[in-house]
Amino acid sequence: MKVFKFGGASVKDAAGVKNVAKILSKYKEDEPLVVISAMGKMTNALEEVARAFYLKQDDVSDKLNFVKEFHSKFLKELFEEGHPVFDAVSNLLVEIEWALDSEPRPDYPFEYDQIVSVGELLSTTIVSAYLKEIGIDNDWLDARDVIKTDNKHQSAVINWDLTTACIKEKVNTDRLTITQGFIGCTSENFTTTLGREGSDYSAAIFATVLGAKKLVIWKDVIGVLHADPRYFDDAKKVEKLSFQEAIELAFYGASVIHPKTLQPLKRNRIPLQVRSFIDLEQKGTWVAEDEVTYPDTAFYILKKNQTLLSISARDLDFIVENHLSSAFLILAKYNAKVNLVQNSAVSCYFALDVDDLQIDALVEELSKHFKVKYNSGLDLLTVRHYHDEDVDLLLNDKEVLLTQKNRTTIQVLYK
Ligand code: ADP
Ligand code: ASP
Ligand code: MG
Repeated sequence: MKVFKFGGASVKDAAGVKNVAKILSKYKEDEPLVVISAMGKMTNALEEVARAFYLKQDDVSDKLNFVKEFHSKFLKELFEEGHPVFDAVSNLLVEIEWALDSEPRPDYPFEYDQIVSVGELLSTTIVSAYLKEIGIDNDWLDARDVIKTDNKHQSAVINWDLTTACIKEKVNTDRLTITQGFIGCTSENFTTTLGREGSDYSAAIFATVLGAKKLVIWKDVIGVLHADPRYFDDAKKVEKLSFQEAIELAFYGASVIHPKTLQPLKRNRIPLQVRSFIDLEQKGTWVAEDEVTYPDTAFYILKKNQTLLSISARDLDFIVENHLSSAFLILAKYNAKVNLVQNSAVSCYFALDVDDLQIDALVEELSKHFKVKYNSGLDLLTVRHYHDEDVDLLLNDKEVLLTQKNRTTIQVLYK
């Protein structure tokens, strides 16, 4: 069997859902398990609901109405009035309303997970019902029944033993299964999420446990390119990548593959195909154990909206290991992802991805131990297999704040 993953872009409108159905009917002999993300930009929209609720803003219901109207338009385009899916969708939306009925807990990641997770439940409910409607029988699986996690909300960690047992028990590999990415469940039955873009990782978990022949991630691009086409013109496709190179690219932020996706596939020698859901003639990019890499070709990775945060000891003492370990513990507590670290005698600099709702609390806690400065809205460019002259050209008019390089990789943080 195979595991397929369709992201939000593939189901952004009714035509997208019809296209997914066309792909599934073409490949139905594979009896795939199919992981589907929330539709279009619905995760962003639900994040806005969660934030407004948490901040007790007046526009929570406007923000929720946007989500409701999006799904209702979708349903009207795909189903006749009176179809049972209308009730199923409104029941899911009522779950959000219930969550919004009580006072927000101080724990934002918890509230986030209860609200944002509904996006994937909505999309899979709609796609599963549509497939049935056009004669493609399938089982809808609630991923929370099988993806078991700890209770680190917004970046939950998988309990592999329990997850393996549950997937083996609940997934019928002789049938087409439609399920959610990104979401899981704690032992106390609270919904968790695995981190933004986490559906690729969910798909890799299913592929690993089920011993899939391959994982196919269907994208709006023809494969893995040498750079993000949103920011770089003329990005060319890579035919093949080793797991090692793909892991490096994902780690540095090539957002076409979620970084956690690759390790379980590599360990279990399950090849990954990244291919287009638009142009089915294109075979995409293969990531596999014995594939070669192209060390002469540069890969450009741009991470936007970075925060540069520096800490220094209050008494101008050297910054040493014990300072760093306590700083890292605090960064982890606030879900700050460290993309670059640079140390000098008396300071340490971190380039971070951190939610702006967490930054004040993070800085407050760090300030109990250190002098802290920070600066947000920066860009981090990483170039693998770089040539100095190309990088210089790109940074021509930029104010560079931090640079780090080794023989294969250069990272530059700039304004
Ligand atoms: P999904 O619909 O699965 O969530 P994403 O939008 O997360 O898809 O990922 C696909 C996007 O990733 C592409 O549209 C492209 O803009 C971006 N991207 C970033 N880096 C690369 C790269 N190196 N190769 C291809 N696409 C990339
Ligand atoms: N829907 C989630 C997100 O947009 C998870 C995913 O699509 O991978 O981040
Ligand atoms: Mg995505």
